[in-house]
Amino acid sequence: MATTTDYEALALKAGRELEEASAQEVLQWAADTFGKRFCVTSSMEDAVVAHLASTVLPGVDVVFLDTGYHFAETIGTRDAVAATMPVNVITLTPKLTVAEQDAQYGPQLHDRDPDLCCAMRKVEPLDRGLAGYDAWATGLRRDESPSRANTPVVAWDAKRRKVKLSPIARWTQDDVDAYAQTNGVLMNPLLWEGYTSIGCSPLSCTAKPGEGEQGRAGRWAGSGKTECGIHL
Ligand code: SF4
Repeated sequence: MATTTDYEALALKAGRELEEASAQEVLQWAADTFGKRFCVTSSMEDAVVAHLASTVLPGVDVVFLDTGYHFAETIGTRDAVAATMPVNVITLTPKLTVAEQDAQYGPQLHDRDPDLCCAMRKVEPLDRGLAGYDAWATGLRRDESPSRANTPVVAWDAKRRKVKLSPIARWTQDDVDAYAQTNGVLMNPLLWEGYTSIGCSPLSCTAKPGEGEQGRAGRWAGSGKTECGIHL
């Protein structure tokens, strides 16, 4: 049985060997190596990585974090993915409901301490949900923001001690749009309303980008925060 030390070495080797591989090849490697102990995470901004994974591992687990603050369109995209794609959607929820969090920490914690809010509503549930897997895939892309510019295709997630894949790291938004159009992949309808990155619905967390901005510019805009903490 492989140990996490074996997987760390495997991840570093695969990171070198699969840097130029296609997204399907990266996911095929994960399916062959980890089987059902591999999952995809999705924010339901689109279902591109879930679709790619389903082509190499039908029935693959697709993990979605329901923070309690999502746009209705995001929940609708999650439900449509579950109903129409050959994947197994798993919804993770925080330990506290929004009402319980408001009671304990005060309302609108996202405006006052978004790092704490993200830690409780995103990071902890994901850490808990990934416990049963050896590898997980994300939809991170290098063109999304400066903080993601060096995203490896395959890496060692030292915090969680798992292999972390970003099979579309080298893709651009145009690549995503082209794949979605060619394959009829579900996209979050908010993308047609001017949003370029979709997270939780409070304005302090997700806004439409300003003139000349793109990618994740509308996320926690003006706060200096660029990531929720899952990918640090
Ligand atoms: S994105 Fe905003 S609402 Fe969502 S968990 Fe983070 S701070 Fe809270």
